[in-house]
Amino acid sequence: MEKRINVTRSLMPSFEEYIEEIRPIWDSHWLTNMGVKHQELEDKLKEYLHVPEISLMSNGHMSLEMALQAMELEGEIITTPFTFASTTHAITRNNLEPVFCDIDPFDFTMDVSKIETLITDRTSAILPVHVYGNICQVNEIDRIAKKHGLKVIYDAAHAFAETYHGQGVGCYGDASIFSFHATKVFNTIEGGCVCFSDEAFGIQLSRLKNFGICNEEVVDGIGANAKMNEFQAAMGLCNLRYIDGEIKKRKHLTECYRERLERQKGIQLNAVQKDVKSNYAYFPVVINAEEFGASRDEICGELKKYQIYARKYFYPLTSSFECYHGRFTPEETPVAWNISKEVMTLPLYGELEENIVHRVCDIILSLKKR
Ligand SMILES: *Cc1c(COP(=O)(O)O)cnc(C)c1O
Repeated sequence: MEKRINVTRSLMPSFEEYIEEIRPIWDSHWLTNMGVKHQELEDKLKEYLHVPEISLMSNGHMSLEMALQAMELEGEIITTPFTFASTTHAITRNNLEPVFCDIDPFDFTMDVSKIETLITDRTSAILPVHVYGNICQVNEIDRIAKKHGLKVIYDAAHAFAETYHGQGVGCYGDASIFSFHATKVFNTIEGGCVCFSDEAFGIQLSRLKNFGICNEEVVDGIGANAKMNEFQAAMGLCNLRYIDGEIKKRKHLTECYRERLERQKGIQLNAVQKDVKSNYAYFPVVINAEEFGASRDEICGELKKYQIYARKYFYPLTSSFECYHGRFTPEETPVAWNISKEVMTLPLYGELEENIVHRVCDIILSLKKR
């Protein structure tokens, strides 16, 4: 029986290291509500991510929901359907209306040339996603937002540790959110954060993540519970010690994949962006079935026979989810629509053995048209 290979594997410290990290929590009996580990992780991440301010959250999704609520937005939000369910759900759960913009066919981020055609007098913000860690066209988005008086919130769930022109990617827009879910490059088991610079926004966020509690007797916001607990923060403190090594290993494996799969007819690899320090979060490939000789779904099926689980990510588009049936028209973003049917991400994580990368490539290339 072959060993199952998943698309990712969580970064973890040794058991003993984690136990040492959580020992003080036992002694203090302070388990959550902005304790010592929470404070320490917030300080360390602020520095590591090169961002002015940070607010830790229970997960990436609540980071998005809290950021949108704290911004007191109304009406329509221009966003992308080529993302994880969370992005679109965070908008609709805030009683806001997503308006879907198409994507760039090479880096899969929002096609900035289409944004202005979607702006109406009801538009209040733009919510782009740094897809697979590819950085959006932040300067152009900033220009459009300023011109039309819109807020910008980046879903940077895939972009941990990345910089653009040497600047932390979380510095762009009015706020950026990161996810520290177990499947992401850096994890706190579950977790996330909002990065921002506006002080008043930060106060609003810190209240909303704790039920809107202002002080002992005043509750002035209809908040939720989105606090990161001490055990999550402790996991983050441990994993932060290994993150640079993790990214370095991913970089090497990415180069192995690239060497095998680039210049293969019918396979499109992820764009390499200038001036971006990448975190190598994912290895997406777009398969043109006609040119290659096998479809994305056929390749996925073949890999599965060898216990290798690639992921159809992102498929389907969020605009075609059953829960939104009849509300959106997925065909209105044709580039995203087509790519979602052709894209898959291959296994990639620090502990992945190089020979598995070659196995994956051998299996894929064995399906190639001769
Ligand atoms: C993972 C992810 C989220 C949600 O983060 P969680 O920590 O899982 O709640 C949001 N957006 C994108 C693009 C993601 O990949």
